[in-house]
Amino acid sequence: MPKAQETILEIDLKALTHNFKHIKSKLKENTKFLAVVKAFAYGSDAVEISKHLQNLNVDCFAVAYTHEGVALRDAGITKPILVLHPHKTNLETIINRCLEPNLYSFDILHAFLTIAKEHKQTHYPVHIKFNTGLNRLGFNTQDVKKVSQSINNTSSIKVASIFSHLAASEDINERAFTENQIEKFKIVAKNFTKEIGYKPHLHICNTSGILNFPEAHFDMVRCGIGLYGFGNSEIENKNLKPIASLKSIISQIHLLQKGETLGYNRSFTASKTIKTATIPIGHADGIGRQYGNGVGFVNINGKRASIIGNVCMDMIMVDITNIDCNEGDEVIIFDSHNTAEDLASSINSISYELITSVSRRIKRVFC
Ligand code: PLP
Repeated sequence: MPKAQETILEIDLKALTHNFKHIKSKLKENTKFLAVVKAFAYGSDAVEISKHLQNLNVDCFAVAYTHEGVALRDAGITKPILVLHPHKTNLETIINRCLEPNLYSFDILHAFLTIAKEHKQTHYPVHIKFNTGLNRLGFNTQDVKKVSQSINNTSSIKVASIFSHLAASEDINERAFTENQIEKFKIVAKNFTKEIGYKPHLHICNTSGILNFPEAHFDMVRCGIGLYGFGNSEIENKNLKPIASLKSIISQIHLLQKGETLGYNRSFTASKTIKTATIPIGHADGIGRQYGNGVGFVNINGKRASIIGNVCMDMIMVDITNIDCNEGDEVIIFDSHNTAEDLASSINSISYELITSVSRRIKRVFC
């Protein structure tokens, strides 16, 4: 790739293909692959990522909110799209744009039944979520009978899938908890299937679930972070390739004399003569203030440069005293070697947060 001339987020579609194929190779032939492309495809651009995955014949997609699904339909995505967190105000749009809602509570189930009936729908595909331990969204497992009664009373909807979500599938110390969630899910799925009289698809695994619990792939898996190159473990991180590289340039170099201060609030004082570089990326771009004052770092000409002073809205300043570099040189905030996971961990965060925080004003460049 040519060196960056400005701040860009480079997306490597070949790495996306690699990750998709690698994770798919872990599945049985008939297990469906759902790609989670919520939050702008984890910051990478949902439209481009979804088009690429649709060309690779992914089975379906999931987004968090209805408007994310609408954007994919507008861009020509034709595969099924599960809306994980629909709001009651969007249910008409869900039907109009052929999106498939997660119905996770009686409130949303009854609201959707009313809208589906008003729109004279028959067998509209919906997904029923049960809570097996994450305690975030989902029907109580005790409510199988009550949920199925509401569904059996109507021909407006058809249950395309029953699903749940794992709380700690990446954590080997929580294996027993995850196994318990999987067992609970098996029981609830069996009872629910019996009540409605047909067998919807079953799914519970996210990326770490796919990698660590092959016995729980069921009919479909929901893969997010793995597609973007992170496997939540040292071994799996080696097999996957981070697809996003956040790059910038040195705008200006300054020499600071001993005692001079740097940046807003003068939070940094030079204890000796130092050289600093100003880089056009800041907290409005997803590099939060926690990375400032010696916590976070970037990479310049193969060397690590510490972020010093407070992070500004559009800029950071880094210490380049021991780095041979010039104005205009490329700066790597993260890439496949200097990973988003490494940088995020400097503030006790995770790759998910850093990659989804890269602001929309940063140009995405696909290669
Ligand atoms: N399924 C659901 C319901 C989710 O909320 C998410 C992401 O948060 C995923 C699957 C994908 O998880 P991961 O990115 O760990 O693969």
